[in-house]
Parts: sequence; C-alpha cells; structure tokens
Amino acid sequence: MGASIRWTARMRAVLRRWQSAPLIWLIVGGFVLMAATAIGTALTVDRFRQNAIESGRDSLESAVRLLARHFDREFADFAVLQKSIIAELESHGIESADVFRSEMGTLAVHEVLRAKASGWSDVAGANLFDSSGVLINSSRRWPVADISVADRGYFNRLKNDPASQEEIEVVPGRFGDGQAIVFARRVSGPHGEFLGIVTRAIAPEQLESFFASSGLGEDSSIAMHHQNGQLLGRIPQVDGMIGKNYRTGSPEQMAVFERTFVTTELASPIDGKQRIVAARLLTVVPLVIVATKSLDATLATWRTQTKFFVTVAVLSIGLLVLTLVLIFRQMTRRLSVEKQRLDTALNTMTQGLLMFDQDQRLIVCNRRYTDMYRLSTTVVKPGVHFRDVIQHRHDTGSFEGDVDAYCDAVLDGVGRIQSNIVETADGRLIEIKNQPGAGGGWLATHDDVTERIRSDERIAHMAHYDALTDLPNRVLMRGHLERRVAELAQGKPFAILYIDVDEFKGVNDSLGHEVGDELLRQVANRLRACVSGNDLVARLGGDEFAIVKAGTCDQAELTALAEQILTMLRRPVDCKGQEIATDASIGIAIAPDHGDNLDDLLKRADLAMYAAKSEGRGTFRIFVPEYDAKARLRRQLEIDLRLALGRGEFEVHYQPLVDLAANVVTGCEALLRWRHPARGMVSPVDFIPVAEDTGLISEIGEWVLRQACTEAASWPGDIHIAVNVSPVQFRSRTLALKVAAALAESGLAPGRLELEITETVLIRDDEEALTVLQQLRELGVRIALDDFGTGYSSLSYLHRFPFDKIKIDRSFISDIGEPEDSSPIVQAVVHMAAARHMATTAEGVETEAQREVLRKLGCSQMQGWLFSPAVPAAKLKQLLSNQAAAA
Ligand code: C2E
Ligand code: MG
Ligand code: MG
Repeated sequence: MGASIRWTARMRAVLRRWQSAPLIWLIVGGFVLMAATAIGTALTVDRFRQNAIESGRDSLESAVRLLARHFDREFADFAVLQKSIIAELESHGIESADVFRSEMGTLAVHEVLRAKASGWSDVAGANLFDSSGVLINSSRRWPVADISVADRGYFNRLKNDPASQEEIEVVPGRFGDGQAIVFARRVSGPHGEFLGIVTRAIAPEQLESFFASSGLGEDSSIAMHHQNGQLLGRIPQVDGMIGKNYRTGSPEQMAVFERTFVTTELASPIDGKQRIVAARLLTVVPLVIVATKSLDATLATWRTQTKFFVTVAVLSIGLLVLTLVLIFRQMTRRLSVEKQRLDTALNTMTQGLLMFDQDQRLIVCNRRYTDMYRLSTTVVKPGVHFRDVIQHRHDTGSFEGDVDAYCDAVLDGVGRIQSNIVETADGRLIEIKNQPGAGGGWLATHDDVTERIRSDERIAHMAHYDALTDLPNRVLMRGHLERRVAELAQGKPFAILYIDVDEFKGVNDSLGHEVGDELLRQVANRLRACVSGNDLVARLGGDEFAIVKAGTCDQAELTALAEQILTMLRRPVDCKGQEIATDASIGIAIAPDHGDNLDDLLKRADLAMYAAKSEGRGTFRIFVPEYDAKARLRRQLEIDLRLALGRGEFEVHYQPLVDLAANVVTGCEALLRWRHPARGMVSPVDFIPVAEDTGLISEIGEWVLRQACTEAASWPGDIHIAVNVSPVQFRSRTLALKVAAALAESGLAPGRLELEITETVLIRDDEEALTVLQQLRELGVRIALDDFGTGYSSLSYLHRFPFDKIKIDRSFISDIGEPEDSSPIVQAVVHMAAARHMATTAEGVETEAQREVLRKLGCSQMQGWLFSPAVPAAKLKQLLSNQAAAA
C-alpha cells in the first residue's frame, strides 16, 4: 500500500515534471497501443473462433445433407420393395389371419419373397410373420426357423394400432448375432384386418460403415436416430449404445429430432462433450441423420492460431511495456540526477530559498533556510502552507511580527518583485526577496546580509571617521560645514578652530609612534571634553584637529574656548608610561564675520593658526584681515624668490667665527642675503622658509655653497668656511655629489668646509640623513650641529652621529650674565661636547660679559655681533688681511 502510494507520488512527480514534455504523450500513446493490441487480438481471436465454428457447422451440414440424400434414396428404394411384397401378399384378398398363415407359409411364397429380396443386403432378408408374431416365411430359408416376434414392440404397435403402417426399431437380432434395425410393415386384409407383418433388417454396422466413408475428422460423430430418440447406428461406436434411446427432452435436442433441418450446439448425451450438431430428418422414414463434432476439435486450429496471436500480442505488449519502463526509468534516473544536482545546488547556497505554488504551499525549501532560523524540517517540508511556515517561525522565535498581517502583505505582493531587509530577534539582518514564480507561485530568498551591511557601515564609517581617534575626518567635517554655511542665512553663526599640536613630530620620532598615537588619542579626548552637543571635533590629519563651534560669533566666548583647550592640552598626560605635556597653536575663523564661503573660512582659520604658530606657538589667534595681506605678501615673496637667483639679487655675507682662547678668526659662516629691488634687504629668516616650502632652496643652497667655497678658496688656508644646509637639501640624494662638485670647482680643501645642519635633518628621514652625512664625512667635510638646544631631544642625536662641532643656540647665550641664566646648560653642553671631542661655538655673542663667561665655561668658539656681524665678502677679506697683518 505504502509502496504503491510512493510509486504513485513518484509517478505524479515525474509527470508533473514532464507535463509539457513528450513523456506524457509517450505513456498515453504506449497505453493506447497496448489496449489496441489487446482489443485487436481479442476481436481477431473471436472472429476466428466464429469462423472456425461456422466452418465446422458448414462441413457438418454438408455431411448430413449428403447422408440424408443417400439414405432417403436408399430407404425409398427399401420401402418400394417392401411395399411391393406387401402389395403381392395383399393382392390375394385374404381376410383371415389363419388363412393368411396357411397360405403364405408356403414354398411358393418363399420363392416370391426370395425373388423380390434377391438384391437385398439385409441382415436376414425379407421375413413374414403371422398375426401372432410367428415367422411363417422368409426369403432366406425354407422351411423357416421357429422364430416369434410377438414380444417385439414394433409388432405389437403394428398389430394394435391400425394407423401404424411401418415401424422401425433396433432389436437384438434373432436371425444372427448382433443387433438389427428392423423395418416392419403391416400386412392388412381388405377390410383392414391385421394379417401379419413383413420385416426386413439391416445391421447397424452397415450404416456405420457408410458413415465412416464421410470422413468428418477428429472427434466428430455421425449417427442415425429414430425420431423417437433410439440410436440406430453411430460412429464412433460406444459399447451398448445401439438401440438406446438418447432423447433427453431438452429443447435443443427436441429440435434435432423434430425439425427437418437443424444446426445447433449441445452437450452430447452419449459422451457428454459439448458438440456442434447438424441434423436432418429423412423424408421417407422417421429417421434423423445427426452429424456432430466436438467444440474442442472444431476449435483446435483456432486454438493454435489463438495461441500464436496471443503470444504475438503479449510479446508486443511486453515489448511496449519494457520500452515504456526503460524510458520511464531513464527519465526518472535523469530526474533523480537533476534533482540531486538541484539539491546540491540548493543546499550549498548561502541564501535560504523557498518556493511556493499558487496555493501558497511549499514546493522547495533548502537546508540553509531551516538552519538560518533553526526551524524543524518536520514542519517546514513540501506541501506545508506558507502561513504555517510563518506561524512555525513565530512559535520558534525567529519571527516576532503579526503572522496574519505579514502573510497578507506578502500574498498581496505576489506577482511582483519585493525586497526588504528585516532584523531578527537575535540581531541579524536578513534580506528577503520575493519574486514571481511560474503559475502564480513565488520564490523567496533569505540572505543573511548582517556582515555585508555591517562592513558597509564600517567602510562608510572609515570613510568619514579617523581610525585612530574615531573623530570625524576632513570629509565629514566639510559636509558638516557645508550644512552650517547653508544655515548662515537663517542667522546661525559658527566658528572654525584649527588646532595644530606643537612639536608633535618630535614626540613621535623621539618616543615612538605608539606614544605619538596615544598622545593624539588623548588630545582627541580632551578636545571632545571641551565642546558641547552641537559642536563637531574633527581630526584633519597628522597633528591637526579642528572644532566647529556652533551658534556663536562671540570672540570672548571663542577666546575662552581656545584658552580652555590650551589649558587642557598643557596638562601633562600619561602616554604609555611617558608623562607628556603638549601644546597647540590655534587659529579661529568666525562665520559670517570672516566669510560666508566655506573655502574662505577654512583658509582664514588656517592663516590664523599659522599666525599663532609663527608668533611663538602655544597660543591662539582669531583671524584678522591683515593675515590675508600677509598671505598675499608671502605669495608675492614666492613669486619674487623664483626670479631672484636669475636676477642676481642674492649675495653671500660672511660672519667670522672667533676662537675664544686665541681670540682669532678661525672661520666664517656664509649667510645668505637677498637684496630685493623694492623691499631692500630681506632677512633669510623671512625667505628661507619660503624657499624651503617651494623647493627653491635646493637651487639657492647650491649657489651659496659654490659661492662660499669659491670665496673661501681665496682666504688664508687656515680659515674654515661654514655653510648652512637646509633639511630640504638633505632629501636630495645628490647633496654629497653637489658638495664634491663645489669643492672641486673652487679648489677648496674639503677639511676647510663645514656644513651646518639642524636637528630637523635628523628628525625627518633618519636613516637616509645618516647615510648622506656619512657620505659627506667621507668627502672629508666637517659637520656642525646648528641651533643646538632649540630642538627636542638633542642629546640623542649626538649619540647617533659624531658631529665635529655643536653650535649652541643664541637663546642660551643672550641671557648669560642675568640671574638664573642658561650658563649651566651651556656648561653641560660644553662638557658633553668635550667628552666626545667636539668643538662648541656659541652663537649670538653680543657682549663682552657673555664672551668672558663663555671662555670660562670652556666654549671653543664664538660668533656674534660683539666681534662682527655678517659682512660682504670684500669686507671680510679686509678683516682677514688685517688679522694676518696683526699676526
Ligand atoms: P644661523 O645659521 O643660526 O645663523 C646665525 C644667525 O645669527 C644669522 O642670522 C646671524 O646674522 C645671526 N647673528 C649672528 N650674530 C648675532 C648676534 O650677536 N646677535 C643676533 N641677534 N644675531 C646674530 P641671519 O643671517 O639672519 O640668518 C638666519 C638664519 O637663516 C641662519 O641661522 C640660517 O639658519 C639661515 N640661513 C642664512 N643663510 C643661509 C643659507 O645660505 N642657507 C640656509 N640653508 N640657511 C641660511
Ligand atoms: Mg648657521
Ligand atoms: Mg644658528
């Protein structure tokens, strides 16, 4: 039962799958063909059966027709002879039985009888019996035997029934062996008196031998019956049959005995077999010729044919069934392979997939779907209603909404593509897409997009937030500012504060990036703490931050904010175990006072910040229009600077370096001077940074180097020349080459050239700078560390590179002689330098007192206005020749 349901289901599935395909037609066609073969075979077989029976009947009928004609003729002749004997006997006019007996029982009559019956083939010839049944004469023998037929039925019937003229009966013969068919006729007197009978007889064998000649074939019979049913003769013979009355009384048999001509089918009373029977009543005697053939024999050929036909039909149907089964199996196998592939594809999908039919019943569901919501596969399986799936989700906790409302909404939308993202109870984001399927159903995919959306959000966050401090970045700040600028029309002012952490680079380089990063995080936190809800703190990159302060244009308020920020930042902070106090330069631009255009406002905040930086750092500046003028001036300076070299506006002045012990000039520092056609002398303090920013310093620096070397080459051989080298020049790998070229060009001994570099050189591109320094050292050039003490952690550089000289910055010298002066620092530097065999030069020595102190401190050299400012080359030459003359 179960198997048949499964098979039916499988069959239905196959048919459904191939509904539009030829398989269904193939199967229907196959069945039709099988039915046609079966029906055709059955009809043919039936037709053949009828034909066989009809042909059997035909041959029986023609047999009985022939036999009847034969026996009719025979018995007619028979009757004529018998009648002629009777006519002879009756012609005597005898009325009395006794007379008849006496007169007829004579030899003469015997002779008459013998003559009449001479051609007869009877069993016993013609015999004459008297009215008492005693044989009185015979054609065969004289004198006659003592035989009586008084007990015979035919005698008594003829004797007692005047209407009965002739009787035919089979009796046990009294003239010989076997049975005899007796034909008895009445002999009557002139008035109908019964005088006796004349009999003649034939043996049943005689009939039977004739029957045998008709040859009706196997299992057939030919018989002669008396109309009363008595059997007279039959082939094949059956013991004891002759003389027996086989009349059964059945209507079919009655028809056989009573109708002139009949063909029927009945069970034989002799052997019980079903037989086809053809019978014919003889016209001259009440005898019936019956020919039969058993149905089995009649249908024997038909059976053989039927077997053949049925075999062919069965084989054809079998072949057809086999073909169909093979096709079906092939199809199901293909289907199962396809299904397997589909299952594999469905179950390896990263999305949950469901397919519903037009009745909202589930057709397909993959494992991912049930796994995704931890659903039971005994509930969510093909055939389940959509509403039940959602109800199950609701029951198991993966769906929290109203089941009916949700189902109605989905079903409303069937027929068009729907897509939405829902959040599950456990916080996952699932994108559900419904799209119309074939025949009114729909296909739903459930995609867990949590990761994708979260990562999109992360990327979006990264695009707008700084990874280190998690502050909004420049892009986000710009967007924010654009909105603020748009709101200016509504009378909502705001301010931009640019905050640049002072000396951050030094922290980063000297204490490491980790400490630097931590410092930036702490700065960010402190800045956050300084603002309120509507304000925005952003990191613009590196050590630059910005605050957009909303709703104010009050300078006092902004000043307070800037001071608060500076106070906060100056508080030492613990960064990875390092106590760091930092500071910042802040530039403030106020909208709309300083502009209602975003770019202008940003530029002005920047200018204000640079102003704060250039005015000593650790302070803030609110934009003032003159910053714009300064910026313009600087731009002009840039333009002029580009032209200055070509126009020959530069000069190199030389400032003597004096040995403190011997009080003699041992060297000079080359200091660049710009004789601007309109502005007059421009200080290198003003234009060197501009030349550095624009990159012009490389060209200018090279020019100074060549100029100074050439000049120095003309000085006495013991006088050194010191040339300042900008950190920007260090970035060019060709610096050593250029120095070598200048030396070669001028013919100056490398040992007389001293290059002054600042710590900044080492702060940037540490390794690279050390390589260049090493190359210079290999040239034989001396290296001096300029402006020592203004940098960050000067001492560490001394470990890394063995300078020839340290130039102590002017700021340590200028206060010498004042209370709490810097002399202990100078002392320390001198000691340290001496320990490393480095010379020391004190810069900016302006007073005799300073010189005295420095000499006592053990400083090797001094440079300053006390002795001489930087002077043109000619003047220096004069000075040197004076010194030489004095010596
Ligand atoms: P620096 O190398 O430290 O040069 C010494 C500066 O101190 C010079 O300023 C000099 O005129 C000044 N000075 C010397 N004695 C005294 C004194 O007793 N009192 C005071 N107040 N100042 C004194 P200057 O010439 O204005 O140069 C400033 C800076 O410009 C230099 O500082 C140097 O860093 C840079 N510089 C000058 N020429 C060149 C150059 O050819 N190439 C490069 N790269 N930088 C140069
Ligand atoms: Mg210098
Ligand atoms: Mg200096």
